[in-house]
Amino acid sequence: MNIILFGAPGAGKGTQSSLLIERSGMKQISTGDLFRAAIKNKTDLGLKAQGFMDKGQLVPDDVVIGMVEEVLKSGVRNFILDGFPRTVAQGEALDQLLKNMSLSIGRAIFLEVPMNVLEERLTGRRVCKGCGTVYHIQSKPSRVPGVCDVCGNEVVQRNDDKPEVIRTRLQTYADYTAPLKDFYRNSGKFVSIDGDRGPEAVFEEILGLVK
Ligand code: AMP
Repeated sequence: MNIILFGAPGAGKGTQSSLLIERSGMKQISTGDLFRAAIKNKTDLGLKAQGFMDKGQLVPDDVVIGMVEEVLKSGVRNFILDGFPRTVAQGEALDQLLKNMSLSIGRAIFLEVPMNVLEERLTGRRVCKGCGTVYHIQSKPSRVPGVCDVCGNEVVQRNDDKPEVIRTRLQTYADYTAPLKDFYRNSGKFVSIDGDRGPEAVFEEILGLVK
């Protein structure tokens, strides 16, 4: 099954995608990860995206949609769309892309998390520069501060997890991404789940939905 995982920044989309990859063999298409890789590799796409990302703003729809189209055309199936679509225009473009390729989405799963919890998760989040493992300074610290347990690389704060950028990202979410809930409610594929629980409990519920 192909699914969409959506919700505010910090709702746990990345964490749940990692669990689904590990334990159910699904493939992740994370637009945020794709942009971060493009920035790291200094590609044209990275140059286009960086300014928007550093400010906590959305990368323009045409850039994101073009990138997702390329990934879908590469033949990936049984996928989780993580962080895409993020606007109703992207949702409409995705419908068209899927239709053209005779593909479909089985579920659009929304992770519901209260605003104060999102802020706490984002401000405390730290990420390994090498392998991308995600930590949290309180709930999941690395064994040695600043050093990744998995690969030994440096663990840092994402540029867009700085407090002033977090505010913009959460506002951007409210303005552009929250309306997607109605878009998917109307499609009959929408499921909202309580994301304010430990990762395993959330995962069990998602697993039940994708089987
Ligand atoms: P994420 O890792 O999903 O939190 O995404 C990090 C940043 O990448 C976002 O704040 C946006 O600047 C950009 N981004 C990721 N996905 C999208 C998207 N679907 N549309 C526009 N911008 C995006």
